[in-house]
Amino acid sequence: MDACNNVEREVDKVLSKFTTINEHAETMLSDLINHIESLERDLETVPLEHNVTPEQVQVLKQAMTKIRDTVIKLATDHRDLHGTVSRVGKAIDRNFIADFASTSREDVFCGSEKSHLLNQVICQHFYRQGMLDIADELAAEAGIKTDEGRKEPFTELNFILDCLKQRNLEPALEWAKKHREALLAQNSSLEFKLHRLHFIRLVQQGLCKQTEAILYARQNLTQFVGRHEKDVQSLMGTLLYLPHGIQSSPYSHLLDPTLWLEIHDVFTKEACMLLGLSVDSPLSVCINAGCTALPALLNIKQVMQQRQVTGIWSGKDELPIEIDLGKQGRYHSVFACPILRQQSTESNPPMKLVCGHVISRDALNKLTSANKNQFVSRLKCPYCPVEQNPEDARLIYF
Ligand SMILES: [Zn+2]
Repeated sequence: MDACNNVEREVDKVLSKFTTINEHAETMLSDLINHIESLERDLETVPLEHNVTPEQVQVLKQAMTKIRDTVIKLATDHRDLHGTVSRVGKAIDRNFIADFASTSREDVFCGSEKSHLLNQVICQHFYRQGMLDIADELAAEAGIKTDEGRKEPFTELNFILDCLKQRNLEPALEWAKKHREALLAQNSSLEFKLHRLHFIRLVQQGLCKQTEAILYARQNLTQFVGRHEKDVQSLMGTLLYLPHGIQSSPYSHLLDPTLWLEIHDVFTKEACMLLGLSVDSPLSVCINAGCTALPALLNIKQVMQQRQVTGIWSGKDELPIEIDLGKQGRYHSVFACPILRQQSTESNPPMKLVCGHVISRDALNKLTSANKNQFVSRLKCPYCPVEQNPEDARLIYF
């Protein structure tokens, strides 16, 4: 943001300079044109055989000098403006980093298999966003089979979400009814929330919709009394305030437009969960994580360059520093060995000792080999002094 502000300041300078120069030039030019025109008129009135007097020659000379001076002044102004414009370019170079290549590794996307995967992820993202034509085009050009892009569920979901945005509840309600059992199994309140919005819309219209609202509640809300008793009670309470409108009733919070935004999110979440999909597309999760991590990575890169240790980063599947992506960026628990201070990997997995303490396999091997001069290998836990046979340690999975 600071970078944008810095550049904007330079752009403002250019704009204000341009306006002043423009105004100034216009007045100067119109003055000059007026002057020349009056001279022209004077010359026209002179009879043809009349000779030019020395005074008149003097006047013409003065006019020519004035014209030349004005042109020079305009050219200087123009040059000056150029300088200010080029300062904007320099400000952009100074404030933005054009080359992010140093923070990524080329081999990550190399090879046909990897680019196929990348295309697949991009294609899936477009399907999720409802940009079906772009996704189809990409699928055709990159040779992705449609079932790999998993197009179907998104077409339906996007249609329903679009309808919800236009406050049309029908398709969402139908979908919720069709998947009622599965939704209830995941303790979803989607269907209730949809019916609630419909009911609120009816009572909002006042007394004329009273009968319709009561009928709707009987048909659709009674089934939710068990799970949403309090909510159903307050919905029924609104009926008392119909004559004066519920805007000024204790139930006015039910008219909050955020309920419509909420239903959008609830639907996306529940539907994705039901279909076994992540709520956000994998591509946008990756890009967001990358954007959050970039400033820190660029900083560390600079420090590494200054200390001339750039080599230690490349070739590792691990970042040189820990970067916190915030709560929404956390997905898996990671085990870091308390002895070796390294994250566990497939070749160096976490091992649970008999006493219950967990260390990595490499640490276990090191501790064991330190005692290998003994006849039977024994291991003393580094955290509690329980002696045990290292072979009793069990591999654990997260
Ligand atoms: Zn222990």
